[in-house]
Amino acid sequence: MGRFQGVDYFGADGLLSEEEKLVRETVREFVDERVIPIIEEQNRAGTFPMSLVAPMAELGLFGATLPAAYGCAGMNNVAYGLVMQELERGDSGIRSFASVQSALVMYPLFAYGSEEQKNTWLPKLARGESIGCFGLTEPDFGSNPGGMLTKAEATADGYVLSGAKMWITNGSIADVAVVWAKLDGVVNGFLVEKGTRGFSAPEMKGKHSLRASVTSELILEDVHIPKANRLPGGEGLRLPLACLSQARYGIAWGAIGSMMACYDSALRYAMSRIQFGRPIASFQMTQEKLTGMLTEITKAQLLTVQLGRLKDAGTLRYQQVSMAKRNNVFHALEIARQARGILGANGILDEYPVMRHMANLESVITYEGTHEMHTLIVGEDITGIPAYA
Ligand SMILES: Cc1cc2nc3c(=O)[nH]c(=O)nc-3n(C[C@H](O)[C@H](O)[C@H](O)COP(=O)(O)OP(=O)(O)OC[C@H]3O[C@@H](n4cnc5c(N)ncnc54)[C@H](O)[C@@H]3O)c2cc1C
Repeated sequence: MGRFQGVDYFGADGLLSEEEKLVRETVREFVDERVIPIIEEQNRAGTFPMSLVAPMAELGLFGATLPAAYGCAGMNNVAYGLVMQELERGDSGIRSFASVQSALVMYPLFAYGSEEQKNTWLPKLARGESIGCFGLTEPDFGSNPGGMLTKAEATADGYVLSGAKMWITNGSIADVAVVWAKLDGVVNGFLVEKGTRGFSAPEMKGKHSLRASVTSELILEDVHIPKANRLPGGEGLRLPLACLSQARYGIAWGAIGSMMACYDSALRYAMSRIQFGRPIASFQMTQEKLTGMLTEITKAQLLTVQLGRLKDAGTLRYQQVSMAKRNNVFHALEIARQARGILGANGILDEYPVMRHMANLESVITYEGTHEMHTLIVGEDITGIPAYA
């Protein structure tokens, strides 16, 4: 199979700077050379390829938009989005790793951490020497994280955390967990280091989706942490929600990577698979599917470049991120389903990437705010009327 050539029906490349295109090409090559050759095996085994952490760090992919002073690449948001797109073309699990490390661990440290916390953690996280996770969701509180039961109590020299988190990406392999807990009834962020007494992070097994990603519980049984481990830069649910907005921005781009992988696979297959003496690409119904896929990819590309420009200009609103995440992931899943159809029986084999993307996208449409929650966020923005409860 030839090298992936990109998908660009509307000349969206013309909207990118040379530097942004260079970042994309670099990560594209990395994914072709390092991710795609191993990903099906990792997916089958249900393991995250730890061997990719160091090379991803070397490329500056962790905390990529943060400043060089903390060992980060200082990319703009469009370049960062293109990184996410290319990683997810490889696998949503690989993109999830980078998203969590960057948007859910390094971002809160940067935005709400003390100078000491930033200096301690950001360079190590950027170099991939430390791995982080973000613990917000609980067994009984997913879409409604404000109801969380995990609590922190102040002691003479620090805090005691107790509670349980669930569905935490990177949990079992993390050196530091950003844990959200209520202190006197108000959500605060705390850093819990691996090995702290009373803290464990068992891996969740049995996933049909995001198999090449570690997903864990976080169990906090009277975990004593020092005062210096609270994020001092603010409190309230808006803090973790702002982190989620960063991560959702990356997901909106990442979904385009999955779309491209599925479209590319379906197109190549349709051109070479012969039925009734003709390539299946010659049938009108196949062409209709391919046309629909390419149209949605094109719309998502244009939407997302503008999203990135707004973010770089500092005028982006979280409701716009919701619209993009909701739209792009929904259509990525539709494209994966259509691509699987074009591949016929072969569509269910892991010789092709389509079914893996399709299964992965079932997580992506749920995490970082479900499709429904993003509908309600935009709905509230349109009408001024919240419809959550
Ligand atoms: C693979 C994976 C990795 C994850 N990684 C992380 C992580 O790193 N950190 C973290 O904190 N969390 C993580 N999550 C958790 C994820 O964010 C939650 O699963 C998500 O927020 C949804 O919560 P829930 O699963 O409890 O579903 P629920 O909130 O129980 O929702 C179930 C269904 O009800 C719908 N629903 C709920 N409320 C409403 C409403 N008001 N109106 C209409 N419909 C509604 C939902 O849209 C959904 O369809 C991960 C999840 C997965 C699957």
